[in-house]
Amino acid sequence: MKAIFLGPPGVGKGTYASRISPQMGIAHISTGDLLREEVKKKTELGLKAKEYMDRGELVPDELVIDMLEKRIREKDCENGFILDGFPRTIPQAEALEKIVKIDVVINLLLKDEFLIEKISARRQCRKCGEIYNLADIDREGIKMPPILPKVPGKCDKCGGELYQRDDDKEETVRERLEVYKKQTAPLIEYYRKKGLLKEVRVTGGPEKMVPIVMEAMRSPPQTK
Ligand code: AMP
Repeated sequence: MKAIFLGPPGVGKGTYASRISPQMGIAHISTGDLLREEVKKKTELGLKAKEYMDRGELVPDELVIDMLEKRIREKDCENGFILDGFPRTIPQAEALEKIVKIDVVINLLLKDEFLIEKISARRQCRKCGEIYNLADIDREGIKMPPILPKVPGKCDKCGGELYQRDDDKEETVRERLEVYKKQTAPLIEYYRKKGLLKEVRVTGGPEKMVPIVMEAMRSPPQTK
């Protein structure tokens, strides 16, 4: 199974992918996590990527495509993978098509107001990347309880320190949503035309949504 999770920042791509990939025995590839790793290690790519990431802009296509191509060729991707945060532009989607055949694209939908609330309350583990959320949303038919660690500030999985990403602060979040609408949202039509798109409206937390997203991945995509 080779799937793409599409959708605005904060919609839950990373959370769902991290829970679904072990259940399906496929890799979870987050280009955001890969880039943050490069930034942490201060590699040449990391130093270049950081200035774009800090501004909430996209890292240039050629840098991300190269990194993604190397990652997809690793052994753990042989059984399949979930791409989380890639592609984010039409040129990235076209480059991906030359590397591998995608089975399904899941487009996750949630209103901006909730996205901003969720991103501002997101916390991530510095060591393993696990995602938590302090927001407690229960209105307009949307019920998203907080995802809290057992010990405040510490990751349940590896004990690592939880932190707020610099680009999850409100000013940068608004820029990222704009970037999403301009540069990434056109991919929805791109994949709809290819007959690969499945839309999933997010109405709850991972306990409710993970089975729904998995079902959408397994059922055949909508026809053109
Ligand atoms: P994410 O963790 O997916 O929200 O990504 C964090 C940041 O990394 C984005 O705001 C971009 O600056 C950069 N980034 C991640 N994936 C891509 C991509 N496919 N293309 C360009 N930039 C990316």
